[in-house]
Amino acid sequence: MIDFEIPADLAALRDKIRQFVIDEIVPYERDPRLTQHGPTDELRQEMIAKARKAGLLSIQVPRELGGMGLDHIGHAVALEAAGWSTLGPVAMNCAAPDEGNMLILSKIARPDQIKEFLQPVVDGHQRSVFAMTEPDGAGSDPAQLSTEAVFNGNDYVINGRKWLITGANGAKTWIIMARVAPNPHGPDGPTLFLCDGNTPGIEIERVMNSMDRNYVEGHAVVKFNNLRLGPDQLLGEVGNAFQYAQMRLAPARLTHCMRWIGAATRAHSIAIDHARTRTAFGKPLGEHQGVGFMLADNEIALQTCRLAVWNACWMMDKGEAPKGFSARHQSSIVKCFVSEELFKVTDRCVQILGGIGVTDETVVEMIFRDMRPFRLYDGPTEVHKFAIARTLMRHGTAMVA
Ligand SMILES: Cc1cc2nc3c(=O)[nH]c(=O)nc-3n(C[C@H](O)[C@H](O)[C@H](O)COP(=O)(O)OP(=O)(O)OC[C@H]3O[C@@H](n4cnc5c(N)ncnc54)[C@H](O)[C@@H]3O)c2cc1C
Repeated sequence: MIDFEIPADLAALRDKIRQFVIDEIVPYERDPRLTQHGPTDELRQEMIAKARKAGLLSIQVPRELGGMGLDHIGHAVALEAAGWSTLGPVAMNCAAPDEGNMLILSKIARPDQIKEFLQPVVDGHQRSVFAMTEPDGAGSDPAQLSTEAVFNGNDYVINGRKWLITGANGAKTWIIMARVAPNPHGPDGPTLFLCDGNTPGIEIERVMNSMDRNYVEGHAVVKFNNLRLGPDQLLGEVGNAFQYAQMRLAPARLTHCMRWIGAATRAHSIAIDHARTRTAFGKPLGEHQGVGFMLADNEIALQTCRLAVWNACWMMDKGEAPKGFSARHQSSIVKCFVSEELFKVTDRCVQILGGIGVTDETVVEMIFRDMRPFRLYDGPTEVHKFAIARTLMRHGTAMVA
């Protein structure tokens, strides 16, 4: 039976999160420590302390690490509530990149690595990065990975340059993707490493100026200059980086959707309020069909996005995708659809607000800017469409329920 009812305990959690975000976190949206490079670590720590006190820190991790052991549907409901403010997920320690990094580390790190590199992130004491994208190499096509790790039998010596690395400044837990060069001592290929951000050889060139401000410490250009790591600093097996990255990306795409649905719903609520109270040509804006249709389109898009996410979560909770199709195919469909629709929703909200829509008189302007990059990260829309089409060409049939 397909059942869309939210269980009472999950509804109570959602309401608690929503109230926490409204009462405790929304006031920080005008804090000067929310800079062009995102919230500073000091601001993050202050908000994290509030979530910890409220019992809402890192709720998404498995129970054994201190989380609530939610299933995917549980995540969808809770993270949407957290997303009401773009700072909500930061406060609750369920924002990117930490949230996805916690997931991959909980799946493949050794017990000693969990103790040193994962648990402090879960507890909110340290931050993490996932360093894959390169100016001249890996991006949409990770196979272009050019950062190289040369193994001499004792150490891996890593050289390369990355950019758009979120939260790099000040992070301690570093997951680095590099290609182990063919060598006589063991296997080669795309590989993940796990190390401390203070290791000599990791150089932060600069933090880039970007249009979004919701990720802690922004996005950095990073250089690996003879970074020397031992075999005990491998994360998982040599040669398996792409499989591990997919393990992180398929659910991480959905959690981005969940958080951004929350933010877009907030923008929509502000637009509804404006359309009811501001008048033009003798009546409230919302009674003009042009505006009413924009409100209706937003409502349709938000509810459709929510249901698409819930459907993918339901499949993942069952551990099944429709015959012959993978969870990755489903998460590509959802990420692609939701990121495009939510962009249109927030754009319409700006339009309904008129001139003030592009000012910081309301939070809609910030939501619009913060959300725009979502159409690019964790796979640009075109790359997901490319992957979906490739699957269809291989199968020769559409996915049916
Ligand atoms: C805010 C933000 C945060 C990020 N954080 C991180 C991070 O923490 N760690 C990290 O490693 N990376 C991060 N990234 C990088 C992100 O993963 C890449 O931007 C993304 O994978 C796309 O790669 P690219 O920027 O190199 O674009 P490119 O690969 O150069 O692609 C550019 C454009 O070409 C088009 N294109 C590419 N391939 C195809 C295709 N097959 N068919 C049709 N069109 C295509 C698409 O329109 C695409 O947008 C972040 C990016 C952003 C914007």
